[in-house]
This record gives sequence, structure tokens and C-alpha cells, in this order.
Amino acid sequence: MLFSLLTWLAVACLMVFLLQEERRHAERKAEADALGVSTLLEARLAGILQRVQSDLEHLTLTLPGEAYRADAAMNWGVRVVRELGLRSRLFPEIAGFLILDASGTLLYAPKGRVEGENFRDRSYFKAFANSRGGGLFFSEVQNDPLSGRPVLNIAAPARNDAGALLGVVVAQVDLTYLAQCFDSVGVGASGVVSLRRVEDGSLILRRPFVPDLVNRPLINHPLQQQLDAGVRSGTLRMRATLDGVERIYGFRRVGEYPLLIIAGLASSDYLAEWRHACLRAGIVGLLVLLALGLALVRVLRAGAREAEVARRLRDSEARYRTLAENSHDVIWTVDIPTRRYTYASPSISEMTGYTAGEVIGQPVDSWLTADSAARLAREVDLSLRRIAAGDPAASVLVSELELVCKDGRQIFIEVVASYLLDEDGVARSILGITRNVSERKAAESALKESNRQLHARIEEIGRLQVALQELAVRDSLTGLYNRRYLDETLEREVSRARREGIPLSLVMLDIDYFKRVNDTYGHQVGDEVLRTLAATLSADIRAEDVACRYGGEEFLILLPNMPLGNAMQRAEAWRAAVERLSIAHGNFRLTFTISLGVSAYPDHGKTPDELTRCADQALYKAKRDGRNRVVIHYD
Ligand code: GH3
Ligand code: MG
Ligand code: MG
Repeated sequence: MLFSLLTWLAVACLMVFLLQEERRHAERKAEADALGVSTLLEARLAGILQRVQSDLEHLTLTLPGEAYRADAAMNWGVRVVRELGLRSRLFPEIAGFLILDASGTLLYAPKGRVEGENFRDRSYFKAFANSRGGGLFFSEVQNDPLSGRPVLNIAAPARNDAGALLGVVVAQVDLTYLAQCFDSVGVGASGVVSLRRVEDGSLILRRPFVPDLVNRPLINHPLQQQLDAGVRSGTLRMRATLDGVERIYGFRRVGEYPLLIIAGLASSDYLAEWRHACLRAGIVGLLVLLALGLALVRVLRAGAREAEVARRLRDSEARYRTLAENSHDVIWTVDIPTRRYTYASPSISEMTGYTAGEVIGQPVDSWLTADSAARLAREVDLSLRRIAAGDPAASVLVSELELVCKDGRQIFIEVVASYLLDEDGVARSILGITRNVSERKAAESALKESNRQLHARIEEIGRLQVALQELAVRDSLTGLYNRRYLDETLEREVSRARREGIPLSLVMLDIDYFKRVNDTYGHQVGDEVLRTLAATLSADIRAEDVACRYGGEEFLILLPNMPLGNAMQRAEAWRAAVERLSIAHGNFRLTFTISLGVSAYPDHGKTPDELTRCADQALYKAKRDGRNRVVIHYD
């Protein structure tokens, strides 16, 4: 504001100075012009007066003495009047010539003048009548009675050799003609041109014309003082007492004559242009001031707005800075072209051991493990490609990375980053938040481990449960199903056979003379025999068949969906297989046989009990019949 005001003031001062210069210039020019006009008119008037003087001198010298005598005038009349008329006719500035005799009586006059009239009381006659002086006499302004025009009488005496006055020759200068001369020079609308006498400043002629002033002298006028001091020409600035107009006057003495030409240029004229310039400059200055004021108001308003925006920006920045600086997580920015950190919040030192100062300016993958660095580079490249392709979802990146701290510790970090796009949609920088998730990762992996262990335990329990279930239905010595399982299964299979109308066979078998084996080789060998028999049976049954240890050395095999004939064949095959068995015991080889009884549904019974009893009866018969054989139940 101060600058604008000072500038305007400087320009205004400059303008005022220039205008003052302009005014001084106009005044100097007006002085020169006034002096020029006075010089011009002086030259003209001097010319006229010289001629008048020469005419008067010519007449006074050439007219003989007798021509001034009233009695001789009649003889001279025609000649003189003709000569006078000729001179006045050729020179319009001269209204006419008068010739008076020594008594002041008019002798010769232009045509029409009454001769014999006495002029002895006229100033121009009195000037010469009572003295012996010569030269020219300039009278006051008078009205020519003939033409009614104002005239200036210039008189010269004619004297004889003794110096006695013969007469007076008078030239009447027509002031109307001079007025025309004065009017022809330009002094402006309020300018003034005047002709005055030197001795008292009395007015002879003034343009514009003011009747009352004619013949009035100047009293205590500054001009008069200059003239008294002998100044012949010069300029003068003053306010006219007559009309109150301020003018610059140029004055000049007319030759050696006692007359003075004064030309006055009014300041209202010569400063008119300057005043217009002032007005224009003033208007322009005011407009500029106004414009400056408006501009200033706008600038101030804009400044206030800017200050408000800056304040808000500062507040917001302070808020975000506080947020960033106090965040436990690390907030950072990365420049994309260089892929270097441009900012990192102070919590980075707490997280990694590196200070923000150490981090800023470093590549984004510094301190990452090789794997993480490669993965990050891939992910960033991919995101940038997707952003370039116009995928808005790509502007957020979430990644889990591994970082090596300053103390060599390796931590897991989770990075959530946003790509900051410019107006063209080009990603210029990344703003991100990094969080140390090592503890979470550790907790996660601990959880995973305990989960895995739990699963293993559950599986183990499952296996144990299955084993337990097996144990509950299996015989511990032979691994075959036990009696309890058989009872359940037989019940179910009989029902199914009945429901579906399919056959079902039962084979019951018993080792022959087993008691003897025990007795001869011991109980353990007996057990071995039992296991071998079980293994032999198990190797040769279908998946759906159920072999079980029915009693001490009695076995029962359930054959679902198998008719009696086939069951018989199976029983025979087992019998033959057992007969071929040979169990090594020390130097001996032990052999044994089995007896088998077969029953079938629906041939022999419709219930488990009936079928079991029938198989048992068949077995009993096989024993009775000599053992090592298969017997089918019969009714
Ligand atoms: P057979 O059946 O031919 O009429 O004669 P056997 O000698 O086999 O007679 P029995 O059926 O009466 O004998 C059964 C014997 O089986 C009695 C018992 O000592 C023996 N035994 C029963 N259970 C086991 C066992 O688990 N292990 C051993 N080693 N012997 C058993
Ligand atoms: Mg037995
Ligand atoms: Mg037996």
C-alpha cells in the first residue's frame, strides 16, 4: 500500500513539476509574444511617425514665409492645399494637415475646413507660440470635428531665420487607422494593446476601446517607474487595475518619440492551454488514483484471502505434522522418478533404529531383504502400469515386507501406500504408512503352530478312537473280530439277507486235537498256531466276509451273499490250506488240521441263533466223522 501511494505521489509530484515547467514555459512565451507584438507595432508606428515628421519638416522648410501671411494665403491656397491633400491622400494614416499662422489662425486645411478659424488656444499652438523651441509636439487626443474621428495632432513650427514663429504645421494622425493596425495583431481574447505618452503615461489609443480612459495619465503605475528609470523596453506582469485581469505586458518606446507601445497578453489566454493540460492531468491523476485505489483494495482483499488460505494451510499442516510426528506408525513420502524417500516421520527411529535424517534421500528399498526389495519393485512397477492404463483401484498398494533394522534385527512391516497423482493422472509420489507387524506375525505363526499341533492331536485321537473301536471288536491274539462283533454283524447280515432275498453262509471251524499241541509244545506254540490259522483265513476271504474268533480255538466265518455250495467250496479250500501249513518249532515242523461245519440262510435257518446252532452241529458231526473235514448241516 505504501509503495503504491509513494509511487502515485512520485508520479503526481513529477506531473506537478512538469506542469509548473509548462506554465513557466507558457509565461516565457507570453512575455516573448507581448514583447514581439510591441516591437511589431513600434516598428509600424515609428515608420508612420518618421513619415509624418519628414512631411512636417518638408512643409516647414519648403513653404516660403509669405505663405504664412493671411493676405498672401489666397495666392498660395490652391498650391498648398493641393500639396497637403496629396500627402494625406497617399497616406491613409494621416487624416489631414493643418497650417496655422503665427497668431493661431487657420490658413490651410483639407478641403471642407472653415478657414480663418483661430486655434491659438490649442495645445500644439501654445507649445510653439510662447517659446522658441523646435521639434515635434504631440497633442492630446482630439476628435476631428469634420470626420468625428479621434486624431492625434503632431505639430511642428515654421520659423524665419531670426527664429520668429511664422506658423505651425499640424499633421492629424487618424487613430481609427491605428486602431485597425492594433486590431490586426493577435493578443488573444482578453489581451490589450495601448499607445501612451511617455511623460505621464496618458492614454492615446487602447484596444479594446474604453472611452473614459483616453487622455488619462497613469498614476503610481509600476510601468511609469520603469520608464522614469530610463528603461526603453521590457516586460511586466501585473493585474490590471482597470479590469482586474492578470496580464503579461511587453512595452517599447517608439523610436525617439515620446510614445510608448504596450501589448498585454492575459493569463487566461496564454495559460488556457496549460489549464486544459492541468485539468487533463488532474483527471488522469484522479483516475489513476482511483484505479490504484481499486487495485489496492483488490490486492488487499486478495492478500487477506491469501493470508487466510496460508493460515488454514499452516493449521492443516501443523495438524498433519502433529499426526505424523506422534504416530506410532511411520508416515513417509517417496518421489517416484527417483524412488527415494522425501519424508519420514520421527517414529522411524523407534521402528528401525535409523533416524528420519538418515532415511530421507535414501532409496525406498534400502534395508529391505533381497526378497522384499524385489517384490516391492515388482508391485510398484505393476501399480504404475495399471495407473497409466487408467485403473483407479491401482492407486493403493498394500504389502507385507521384511526389513533389517540398524541393529541387525529383522522385522515384518505392513505397508499401506497411496499413489499421489498430478492433474494429468501421472503418479508423481507415494504417501505411505508403515507399521511394525512382527509381533502380530509372531502371534500368527504361534497360532498356526498350535493349530497344526491341535490338528495332529485330533488326528491322533481319531486314530486312537478307530484303534479303540477296532480293539473293542477285535481279538487281541489273532486280530480277527471277536464274538461280540460277530453277534452284531450276524444280526445285521441276516436281516439284510432277509430283506434283499440274498443267501448267507456260516462256516464254523475248530482245530483238531489242539489240547495236544498245547500239552506237547506249550501254550505259546498253541498261540502261534492260532495266529497262523487266523492269518491263513484272513488271506483268503473277501472284503465283505467277516472272520472272527468264536471261542478258544473255535472260529466262525460269515459269508454274506454266498450260497451254501460256494461256502462249502470256500470251507474245503481253507481246510486244505491249513492241512498244508507247517510251523517251524526248533528242529520240528508242526502241522495240524481243522474241522469245519457249514450252514446257510435260508437253507438251514432264518435267525442268527438257528444258523449258528446248525453250523455248530455240522462241526460236531465233522469231529465225530473223523476230523479234518467239512460237513454241511443237515436236517
Ligand atoms: P478235539 O477238539 O479234536 O475234540 O480235541 P481237543 O484237544 O482240541 O479238545 P478241546 O476242544 O476240548 O480242547 C480245547 C483246548 O484248547 C483246551 C485248551 O487248553 C485249549 N485252548 C483253549 N484256548 C486256548 C488258547 O487261547 N491258547 C492255547 N494255547 N490253548 C487254548
Ligand atoms: Mg474246541
Ligand atoms: Mg479242538
